[in-house]
Amino acid sequence: MTKQILILPGDGIGKEVTASAMKILNYLIEKYHLDFITIEREVGGASYELHGKPLTEETLEIAKQSDAILFGAVGGPQWDSLDWDVRPEQALLGLRKTLGLFANLRPAFLFNELASASPLKNHIIENLDILIVRELTGGVYFGEPRGLVEDVTPKYAFNTMVYNEDEIRRIARVAFEAAMTRGKKLCSVDKANVLEVSKFWRGIVAEMGLEYPEVMLSHQLADNTAMQLVLNPNQYDVIVSSNLFGDILSDIAATLSGSIGMLPSASLNSSGQGMYEPCHGSAPDIAGQGVANPLAMISSLAMALEYSLDRKDLAVKIELAIKNFIGLGHRTKDITTSEGFIKTNDVAPLLIKLLENE
Ligand code: NAD
Repeated sequence: MTKQILILPGDGIGKEVTASAMKILNYLIEKYHLDFITIEREVGGASYELHGKPLTEETLEIAKQSDAILFGAVGGPQWDSLDWDVRPEQALLGLRKTLGLFANLRPAFLFNELASASPLKNHIIENLDILIVRELTGGVYFGEPRGLVEDVTPKYAFNTMVYNEDEIRRIARVAFEAAMTRGKKLCSVDKANVLEVSKFWRGIVAEMGLEYPEVMLSHQLADNTAMQLVLNPNQYDVIVSSNLFGDILSDIAATLSGSIGMLPSASLNSSGQGMYEPCHGSAPDIAGQGVANPLAMISSLAMALEYSLDRKDLAVKIELAIKNFIGLGHRTKDITTSEGFIKTNDVAPLLIKLLENE
């Protein structure tokens, strides 16, 4: 069956890193005669300039029909003063909501050669390889009622943290399954000491643990996890958490590995459809200079091959090529202090040479 991939480069370095990932994808399509079709559209600020909105209905329709979406990054200072509903970031929210992308997978890993780029000491950070599974479409970010009450004294604002059992089960299932393919350890993060919703979350995850006797399940309070991620990150294999805690923890984990330019992410729905994007934004400070690191975007392509395009074998090849690339001493500007660094456009050709030798 033909697989359809929607390419949404977006703004700033989103366009630059997506161009690199496309070189790799086109190479793989040709070499392995893959039955893939790719469709490219503008998104974010680029779409606003063309169509007056960050995400058109046509693009959303194509997204619904696609197996995977490769998303670069959106945003930039020129669009910061736009009304909320046409700001570039709305494109992301629109895609997540329409496609029901409830599971956000954010690996955080470190190539030991890059340990000195991490803010942590080498012996703490070496061999880092964590997967954070964050619930993305529920919890306090979306819970109702919510609001601001200004006609009383004192004024107040409120949000609702709510999860139903189905929402907890489906995200926990993704995390347990991921743990089964990795180190078979799962840490569920909550605040069960103070929140009813967390106590409920913990109970359901514990109950599901019985279905996965091979997975060593633990529960941890979110504040402790934030501390442990910095003190001893290698104690973790897979972490699962709600939207709010996952937001915070995944950014801590991303910082550990030195450069945000290295880390991919996937957002999946229950039919295996997924959106794949680097963890970074459009980086207006370096856009147009040709110095962005495209490895996060290329790793996101690898995740798309694994989770939505049924070609885990090719995902493994890309990951190995990236490992060898780093092992050979190739460095983009963000991961070196030396003057001799590789520019964005030169990364994919070097990776393709490595892929040819695999
Ligand atoms: P950012 O991730 O764009 O940049 C943070 C810092 O990291 C910058 O110094 C940047 O130069 C550097 N950086 C990021 N990616 C890099 C790469 N691949 N190679 C080398 N260096 C890299 O975050 P920001 O500066 O807070 O936001 C810039 C814009 O991006 C804003 O408009 C923001 O709203 C948007 N944004 C979009 C997304 C998204 O599209 N998913 C995510 C975050 C931020």
